[in-house]
Amino acid sequence: MFFLCRYVKTLMTDVGLEVREDAIGNIFGRWEGTDPSLPAVGSGSHTDAIPFSGKYDGVVGVLGAIQAIRALQKVSFQPRRAIEVIMFTSEEPTRFGFGCLGSRAMAQSANIFGTLQSAVDAENVSFVEAARRAGYTEAEHNIQSSGLKKGAYASFVELHIEQGPILEKEGADIHHLVFEMLMLHVMRNFPFFGYWYLKMFLSCLENDTHGK
Ligand SMILES: [Zn+2]
Repeated sequence: MFFLCRYVKTLMTDVGLEVREDAIGNIFGRWEGTDPSLPAVGSGSHTDAIPFSGKYDGVVGVLGAIQAIRALQKVSFQPRRAIEVIMFTSEEPTRFGFGCLGSRAMAQSANIFGTLQSAVDAENVSFVEAARRAGYTEAEHNIQSSGLKKGAYASFVELHIEQGPILEKEGADIHHLVFEMLMLHVMRNFPFFGYWYLKMFLSCLENDTHGK
C-alpha cells in the first residue's frame, strides 16, 4: 500500500496538483481554481480492492480523475472551482473488520472515531498503534481532523463500476457502462464540469480503443 500511495502521489504531482494527506491516510491532490473562495469539486475513489474486482473497481475512479485533469490541462481549461482528486484509504474491509474507513471518517459517520480509537485486530494490536507504525503519527491525537467541514465540496464525482448485476445481465459493454454512470452521477449534479469530464473521458477511451 505504501508504494501504491507513493505512486498515486507521484501521478498527482506530475500534473501539478498540490498533494496532502490526512491523519489516517486519505490522499488529496488539489488543482486550484480561479476563485479559491468557492468549494471544490471532488473526484476519486479507492485503490485497494478485493481479489478479481478488476480495473474498473475504485482504481479507475482515482486514475480516471487524474487523467481527466490531464486532458483538461491539455486544452488549457482553467477551472473556476478547485478540483480535488481523492484517494480514500482502506475502502475494503481491513484487518480491523470494517471497510470504507477513509470515506466514513471524512463523512464523520456515526461513532466512526470512537470505533477507530478502540478497534483491535486479531492479535490485539490497536488501530491507533497500527496507524502509528505505518507512519500516521497524528492518528492517535488528531484522528477527528479527517472529518470534513460541511460544504467542503460543491459536488463529488466517482467513476466506479456498477456493482449490481443489471447491466451485466443486459450485456452492456464498458462504453455504455461509463456513459450511464456519467449521465447519472455527473451530469445531474454538476452540468458544466460534467460536460468536460464526459467529453474528455470519452476521448481518452477512444484513444485507448485505437491503441494510441
Ligand atoms: Zn470499489
